[in-house]
Formats: sequence, structure tokens, C-alpha cells
Amino acid sequence: MGNTLRGRFAPSPTGHMHLGNAWTALLAWLQVRSAGGTMVLRMEDLDPDRSRPAYAAALQVDLRWLGLDWDEGPDAGGDYGPYCQSVRSEFYQEAFERLAAAGRTYPCYCTRAELAAAAPHASDGEQRYPGTCRNRKVSRTDRKPAMRLLVPPGSISYSDLLYGEIQQNIEQSVGDFVLRRSDGVYAYQLAVVVDDAAMHITHVLRGNDLIASTPRQLLLYRLLSLKQPVFTHVPLLLGQDGSRLSKRHGDLSLTILRRRGIRPEQIVGYLACQAGLIPEYSAVEAKELIACFDISRLAKKPVVIPGNITEILA
Ligand code: GLU
Repeated sequence: MGNTLRGRFAPSPTGHMHLGNAWTALLAWLQVRSAGGTMVLRMEDLDPDRSRPAYAAALQVDLRWLGLDWDEGPDAGGDYGPYCQSVRSEFYQEAFERLAAAGRTYPCYCTRAELAAAAPHASDGEQRYPGTCRNRKVSRTDRKPAMRLLVPPGSISYSDLLYGEIQQNIEQSVGDFVLRRSDGVYAYQLAVVVDDAAMHITHVLRGNDLIASTPRQLLLYRLLSLKQPVFTHVPLLLGQDGSRLSKRHGDLSLTILRRRGIRPEQIVGYLACQAGLIPEYSAVEAKELIACFDISRLAKKPVVIPGNITEILA
């Protein structure tokens, strides 16, 4: 039991599930099921402004409709719950306090506008924090600070199961990153590490929009003396406009596709074909793919979803 693979799907319930979420969920599920492992569903409803219980409920309906199940989760229970981040603050606080006690955190009073002015040329949407508050001696009383991690110099590297060796110098690329927002909400980077460790996740498979977050998370594993999982990032699904599938591509939500009469096996078959698991498109049930799952068949390039996807699937 001790060596059993444990994987997870960790959606943020901030909108309806679309083909891109289905792709990641299917691949994470196949990685677990093909190894006879344990599947965990964790709701990353950390951000109270953006998460909605109705989306969390709909996500679970959509996952089941696709034929994906889980052994532990918000409804299923399990030994390492609760499985919703909104009720796990005490875990994040404990980890945060350990980092603070080790002298690794500091308050940051910079406003959004100040941050934008200090680093206006962020190329990939990720700004490097210039360290403005690192050496600030006086604390302010007029506003609540965010709390940042004092990032040590040096590079972090790891071996991704699909993309191979990944290396990043966090201090140079993102700088001291936020652990807790000024409104008291713990940051994704901290919460995801605390939860994956607490839930004994051995394998993380997720979209490669998060590949640049992984070194930050590895740093936190190290500083908190937690055991790190094996990471696999998978290519993203893109819309016709070349941008990452998101809520904006409403047409590609599972709710809409279902309403148009598309069956789950058609979606699963299409995704399986894109993942190289079946040679050509045909309707297939998720469980039929367990025996042929092989991560090395996955191409590393993004998958562009054609505009006439409904016709292709039907
Ligand atoms: N909650 C994140 C998302 O929906 C995924 C986090 C992860 O898989 O680490 O984008």
C-alpha cells in the first residue's frame, strides 16, 4: 500500500468545465488507473471572489458524465480530507508559520499599481518582484500587507515525465513570491504544495500552463521538508484564436457540447486520439483506455481545437 501511486485532479471551480479541463482530467485519471493507484479529487476553491459552489457541483457532474471517477474527494471522503481548499486554511497557516519562524517571510505593502510600475515589461504575464519591501524596516499601519517568501539564490531543477529536465532561477525570474495575499487568502503556490503533501500525492499531472510554477513549488517542498511528487505537465488545448482554452471559449464547455447531443465517449475518443492513445478518432469509453495509456505517446505541442469540433465529434 505504501508504494501505491496517488494522483489527483485539482480544478478551480471558477467556471464550467471545458474540453481543456476534460483533457487534463482524463490524462491524470488514466495515469492513476493504469497504475492501479488512488485518484483524488480536490476542489481548489481558495479564492472566495472567483469560486462558486455551483461550479464545484457541476464539475463533479461533468467528470462523472465523462466516465471519470475518484476514490477520495469532497463527496467521497477519504483519510486526508477535507478535500476543498476553502476549508483547509489551518494547514496553510501551519506551513506559513513554519516558514515565518525560519525567517523566510516578510510583509509586502506594495500596491498593484506600484508593482506594475516597478516591472512594466513582464513578457509572459509573470512579473519579477523587484524586492521593494525586502529590506523595509518599518511596518505600516494604514494597509494590510501581503506576505512574501524570501527566495534564496540559485537554480531549481527537476525532471518532468514528459518535458524532461526543467530548470529555473526563481530569484531572477519571479523573485520573492506571495505566500499570503493582503486579504489573508493563502496563495495557490503554498496551498497546492501543502495539500499535495498532506494528501500523499505521488504523481501530479496537470496542464503545462503551470510548468513555470513547479520550481516555486519545489522550493517550498524543500523549505518545508516535504516529499515532492513526480511531475508531468501536458500540452494545452488551444482555441482557434491560438489562446488557451478558457471560459471565454464557452462553446467548448461540456455543458454546451452535451446540449448539442455530443456523447461522453465522443469527447473521450477525440481526446484519446489527440493523446496518441488510439490511431484515429472513434468513440471510446474512458475505461477502455486504461490498458493502452502511455504518456510517451503524448506529443509535446499544443492541440488546436478546430472550429467545427461539434461536427467532427458527431
Ligand atoms: N487549480 C489549478 C487549476 O485549475 C490546478 C492546480 C494544479 O493542478 O496544481 O488551474
